Amino acid sequence: MSEFDEERDFVVVGSGGGSMCAGLVLRAAGRDVLVLEKTDLLGGTTARSGGVMWIPDNPFMRRDGVEDSFDKASEYLDAVVDNREDQPGATPERRATYLREGPKMIAFLLAQGVELDRASYWPDYYDEYPGGCEAGRTVVAKVFDTRELGEWQSKLRPSFAPLAGRLEDLMKIGYFKRSWLSRWIMLKTGVANVFARLLGRRLVTAGAALQGRMLLAATRAGVEFRVESPVRELITEDGAVTGVVTERDGKPWRVGARLGVLVNAGGFAHNQRMRDTYQPGTSVKWTNTVSGDTGEMIEEMQRCGAALAQMDAFVGYQLTLPPGSEKHEVKPSIQRTTAGPHCILVDQGGERYMNEGGSYMAYCLGMLERNKTVPAVPSWAVFDSRHLEKYMFASTMPGRRKPADWTSSGYLKAADTIAALAAQMGVDPAALQRTVERFNRFVANNRDEDFQRGERAYDRWLGDFTHKPSETLGTIEQGPFYAAQVFPGDVGTYGGVVTDAQARVLRGDGSVIPGLYATGVSTASVMGYKYPGAGCSVGPSFVWGYVAAQHAAGQKTA
Ligand SMILES: Cc1cc2nc3c(=O)[nH]c(=O)nc-3n(C[C@H](O)[C@H](O)[C@H](O)COP(=O)(O)OP(=O)(O)OC[C@H]3O[C@@H](n4cnc5c(N)ncnc54)[C@H](O)[C@@H]3O)c2cc1C
Repeated sequence: MSEFDEERDFVVVGSGGGSMCAGLVLRAAGRDVLVLEKTDLLGGTTARSGGVMWIPDNPFMRRDGVEDSFDKASEYLDAVVDNREDQPGATPERRATYLREGPKMIAFLLAQGVELDRASYWPDYYDEYPGGCEAGRTVVAKVFDTRELGEWQSKLRPSFAPLAGRLEDLMKIGYFKRSWLSRWIMLKTGVANVFARLLGRRLVTAGAALQGRMLLAATRAGVEFRVESPVRELITEDGAVTGVVTERDGKPWRVGARLGVLVNAGGFAHNQRMRDTYQPGTSVKWTNTVSGDTGEMIEEMQRCGAALAQMDAFVGYQLTLPPGSEKHEVKPSIQRTTAGPHCILVDQGGERYMNEGGSYMAYCLGMLERNKTVPAVPSWAVFDSRHLEKYMFASTMPGRRKPADWTSSGYLKAADTIAALAAQMGVDPAALQRTVERFNRFVANNRDEDFQRGERAYDRWLGDFTHKPSETLGTIEQGPFYAAQVFPGDVGTYGGVVTDAQARVLRGDGSVIPGLYATGVSTASVMGYKYPGAGCSVGPSFVWGYVAAQHAAGQKTA
C-alpha cells in the first residue's frame, strides 16, 4: 500500500479548461478536489485563448432560434472528421458522447452561475458540408471583472486581448478605416474600457473571462487550487493510478486520489524534442501556448502504459514574425491578412497552393505538406498598397507607415513592381508575375477557380465585410507591392493519450488504466485531424473534464 502525505477524493493535474469544470462536478457530488498547477498562474492556455467552445445544439442557439440538433451535428462531424483508423481519439462513440454531453455541460455550468453566451455569427469552418452551421455553434463567456476573484485575482492568467468587450465586436475594430459600424464599436469599447478603469473595474474578455468565471465558481464551491505545484509522477498500484507526486517546499509530496486523477496538463508545444519526434519541421518559436505546455504528463502517462495517438496533429495558426516578435508570447497572426482582399499566400517558388481562407489547422498542415515538394516554410504573403492602407497588419494599425526596422531588417519587402518584389524575395519573377495575373483574373470573375476561396461562409467571414462583391477576393495591382514571410505557427498540439467515451485513459490493448482520466490537448482529439469550428480545443477540454468527473463521482454518463 502506498503512503501518502495527504489524500483527496480527486486530483487534477493542470488548471486548464476541463480542470475547473471537473472540479465543479465533483464538488456538486460532495467530493473534495485538489487542482495542482505547475506555473504561478491559473487557467492555462485556455485563459490566454479566445475562450470559444464549439458546442453544437447549445441552449443559446435554441434561445436565438438557430436550428441545430444532435443528428445535424453528427452528420457534420461524420462529414468533416475522416474515418481514419489512426485516430482512435475520434471514434464514432466518442464523437456521439461529445455531442450528447456538450449541451448538458453548458447547462450544468449555467446552473453553477457561470455566465455564458454565444457569438451571434461565427461560421463552422466547413460550413458547406452536410450538417454545417453558418451561424456557428460557439459558446463564449460574458465579460468578467476579475475583482470578483478577491485574493485569487492575481493568480488568473491574463487575456491576450488588450481591450475588454464582446469578442465578435473586438474582431470588427480592425476595419475602422472602412466602416462606420467598426468606428462605432471602437468608440463604444474604448469609452467603456476607460470608464471601467476609472471606476477601478478590471474587465477581461475571451479565455480570461471564461477561466476567471470558472475560477470564481470553483473557489466558491470549495475546489482547492495550488500553484507552483508541478506533478512529477503518477503513483500506481497494481496497474491502477492512486495518486500523484507533486512538490511542496521543494520536496516530493505524495497526494493520494481516492476516486482518480484527471490529467489536464496541456500539450507539448514548448517541447522541441517531442516536436522533432512527432511533428518534424515545426518549432517551439512559433507557438502561442503558455510556457507550461511542455508535454511531460503525456510522457508520464505513457510510462504508466497509456497509448499515444494523433501525436503529429497540431492546431496550426499562421504567423508572421516582425522584428521584436520573439520577445512576445503571442505572435502576430496573419490569418485575416492572407484571407483578406488584395493578398495571397505563395510558396518559395512563387506559386499559390491553397485556399487562404478556411481553418487555420488546415492552412498550416497545408504549408507543411507543400514543403515536402516545394519549399514552403516559410511561405510569403504578397499584397498590394491597398491592403496595407485599409487593414491592420501584424498587429499594427492600417496605413503604409510601419516601424523603420521592418524594412531595414528585410522583414517587409517593398517594390514598385511584382518582378522587383520577387527578386527581393528570392523568387522567380516570372512565376510570381504569372501567379498574380492568374489570381487577378479570378478576382475579375469573382471566382477562385484554383482553390474556391470565398465560396464558403467562413472564408468570407475572415475577409473584409465591407468589401464587395467579395469579402475575400481583391486584385493585387496597385503598387507599391509588399511581401512578408508566413510561418506555420500554432495554438496548441492536438494529440496525446487515447481515452474512451468516459475520458478514461486506455492502454495499447484497449484496456482501461484504472484511476486515470485525461482531457484537453493532453489527449488524442475527438476531432481527429480536423478543426470543425471555432472552439474545438477548449470545448473538448471542458466536455471531457465534465464526463470524467461524472464517471469518477459514480454518476455514470448515459
Ligand atoms: C491566443 C490563443 C487563442 C486561442 N483561442 C482558442 C479558442 O478560442 N478556442 C479554442 O478551442 N482554442 C483556442 N486556442 C487553443 C486553446 O487555447 C488550447 O488548445 C486549450 O486552451 C488547451 O486547453 P487544455 O485544457 O488542454 O490545457 P491548458 O489550458 O493549456 O492547461 C494546461 C495547464 O496544465 C499545466 N501543466 C502542465 N504540466 C503540468 C504538470 N506537470 N503539473 C501541473 N500542471 C501542469 C500548464 O501549466 C497549464 O496551466 C487558442 C490558443 C491561443 C494561444
